[in-house]
Amino acid sequence: MSNSTTQIMEETVSETTSDTAPLVSSEVPSSSNYTQLNHTSDIQETVEDELQGSHGVRRRQPIQKIEPGSMNTLSAKYESLDYDTCENHLLLDEERKRGYAFIVWKDIARWVIVLLIGVITALIAFIIDICIEEFSKIKYKQLKKSVDTYVMLDKLYIPYLLWVLSNICVVFIGSMLVAYVEPVAAGSGIPQVKCYLNGVKVSRVVRIKTLFVKAVGVITAVVGGLAGGKEGPMIHSGAVVAAGISQGKSTTFNKDFKIFQYFREDHEKRDFVSGGAAAGVSAAFGAPIGGVLFSLEEGTSFWNQGLTWRTFFGTVVSTFTLNIALSAYHGHPGELSYPGLLNLGKMEPFPFQFYELPVFMFFGMVGGVLGALWNYINYRLSVFRIRYIRSPWLRVVEACLVAAVTATCGFLMMFVLDDCRPLGEDPTKVPLQLFCADGEYNTMAAIWFQTPEASVRSFLHDPMGSYKPLSLLVFVICYFLLSTWTFGLAVSSGLFIPNLLTGAAWGRMLAILIQYMLPSNTVNPAKYALVGAAAQLGGVVRMTISLTVIIIETTGQISNALPIIITLVVAKWTGDFFNEGIYDIHIQLAGVPLLPWEPPPLAHNIYASEVMSHPVFTLRTVENVGHIVELLRVVSYNGFPVVDPPLADDAEVTTYKRLRGMILRSQLIVLLQNKIYNENANTTWSNFNVDMNMFRKEYPRYPSIEELEISDWEKTCTIDLRPFMNPSPYTLPHRASLPRLFRLFRALGLRHLPIVNDLNEVVGMVTRKDIARYRVWRHRGHMGMEELLLSSE
Ligand code: ATP
Repeated sequence: MSNSTTQIMEETVSETTSDTAPLVSSEVPSSSNYTQLNHTSDIQETVEDELQGSHGVRRRQPIQKIEPGSMNTLSAKYESLDYDTCENHLLLDEERKRGYAFIVWKDIARWVIVLLIGVITALIAFIIDICIEEFSKIKYKQLKKSVDTYVMLDKLYIPYLLWVLSNICVVFIGSMLVAYVEPVAAGSGIPQVKCYLNGVKVSRVVRIKTLFVKAVGVITAVVGGLAGGKEGPMIHSGAVVAAGISQGKSTTFNKDFKIFQYFREDHEKRDFVSGGAAAGVSAAFGAPIGGVLFSLEEGTSFWNQGLTWRTFFGTVVSTFTLNIALSAYHGHPGELSYPGLLNLGKMEPFPFQFYELPVFMFFGMVGGVLGALWNYINYRLSVFRIRYIRSPWLRVVEACLVAAVTATCGFLMMFVLDDCRPLGEDPTKVPLQLFCADGEYNTMAAIWFQTPEASVRSFLHDPMGSYKPLSLLVFVICYFLLSTWTFGLAVSSGLFIPNLLTGAAWGRMLAILIQYMLPSNTVNPAKYALVGAAAQLGGVVRMTISLTVIIIETTGQISNALPIIITLVVAKWTGDFFNEGIYDIHIQLAGVPLLPWEPPPLAHNIYASEVMSHPVFTLRTVENVGHIVELLRVVSYNGFPVVDPPLADDAEVTTYKRLRGMILRSQLIVLLQNKIYNENANTTWSNFNVDMNMFRKEYPRYPSIEELEISDWEKTCTIDLRPFMNPSPYTLPHRASLPRLFRLFRALGLRHLPIVNDLNEVVGMVTRKDIARYRVWRHRGHMGMEELLLSSE
């Protein structure tokens, strides 16, 4: 690291820490430093104190109303998932009663669920593929017919209007669904799935309604001619299928099948969702290994060997099922030649010399620069959308406008670029003569009158000389801009295919240039088109391992691996020099508290005592119902440390108490809802017939405290929290450093972490959001750390 970089980091760190006095490790907080709240009357007062920043209370960053579209805020609306198992008495009781047989049964159930996820994801992919193919066939056949008819009559505006109208009508349907029925189904869904797997609850992201809108939306987007693909949405679809099946119930249909109840917890559900996302990749690209690696590289923060195996099983089942279905549909049952939705055609292994490696690096650099530019334009557009295109109808209008502009661009290119080739030289399905001589067809029309995926195939496989360099250049500029405008519209579509298409076009263009410069060499255009496609996509999404494997599996050529790896690595490094990958940009724009892979560097001098919130709202092991209700009403926190009640002879009532466990808001709500309380504080919980299923029944949507009816008399009762709380939560001492806190949250998927002093008394509270607030920024070789603001939006 250069001196200047170090200096910037040091400056930033000292700026970050200067407003809070670091607590030296030997310092033990005293009761005058911190207070702890146990009394109902304290609660309201302290919340007010906090907001005013009164002495003795750490002024927690206030939740602000920040102008949307800012990159340095975290949104308070996202809650965290809890990967940690609550090992309470009820769980131990259940384990003891059910024994080993239940463990085996659960394991078998996991494999069966993964099998179902693979099959159903593949069937959804099959339906989407067939719909897109059939509707596109009808659309382009009609358009060709119309062009052929009206070109003679010099009335080409009629097919043009037809094209625009057909695009708008189809896109309108999908866009209405996304804008009005399920906005979370917009885009590819990969950023949302990535957040979910990282441990952030994104509302409605894995609902069946979302899946339905996603599937219809992607069909309409591709048939509507937008510069989008069906592959990204498949990943989201796989995740929804996994979440739905593994929970054995559907919130959309309000139906509980009363199966797989024991998987109704964040921990289990998230494992299935990562398997589902992988099965989606596998169906999209016919890439089972790429699917597993995708989940590992892009999404899942928590991984283990068992999960690897199951995920791999799911991806294999998914590609196999899709293969059988598509092969049968295309009239070759049993042939198994359609492993995924993306079919790049049969690629030959391309021989390469060592002196070509710098050429691949150059391609990687071009891809990195273009990808960064693509991301930058998309970022500016997204900010504009967030600020000004907010109402659903405006979003629908924008989508329809893009659909019309896309058709206009295509039409102008066909019309203006006079690029004709003799028929029969390339396998176009809709050869359009337009103004070409007899026996020739318009190459741009051939590219536009088919799905973008088929166009990628054309750029990869058509022989050298099939396209004029000028046509390719115009196509690259148009498609580059259209695709960056399309991503983020209120439609469901992904960015893989449009970027592969743009990259394949400029790769082919550079191949023509190389051929021109080295006339003695016969340049293989497929090689450069493929490397260009990989570079462009890599420059946008910044994936390396998984993308390499996906491309290798999709093209079926392991021998092409090295050029692709080199290209993707250089594309990532080049792109990272300018900005982040597109998914991360969208995640930051949404203010999602995502935990990165590594803790912020040079942060060992930031201590838990500076990061934590205090005073802490705690509950006593045997707590008064009225107090719990009041607490839940006044504060919005989701976790509360459970502490020992003060001893009768404890003179100083405000000192903090020894930590006994952690209890979640959701658990308290279920206890209140089921009225698990006693008139008498000495009555034990065993009087109630309570088991884990009481909590699982409500998972994952619990009623709010306002929805519960609790009478004044009930408020005088008490709840014994001990059997329900997590009796051994992870804790850290107040002197722990930020990287240590970070690793604990990241590796264990924690949601809350009580901070204790040397006597195991709770002195503070750290949540996932508190950690996610510290973010590293890198820009053009500089590096630093910033503390993000907390926004209410
Ligand atoms: P999540 O949103 O992850 O589901 P949460 O609602 O409990 O969890 P946050 O929204 O992250 O917590 O908390 C906002 C702020 O409140 C954080 O700064 C956190 O440290 C603080 N906080 C959380 N729980 C408590 C508590 N029991 N007592 C005092 N402060 C708390």
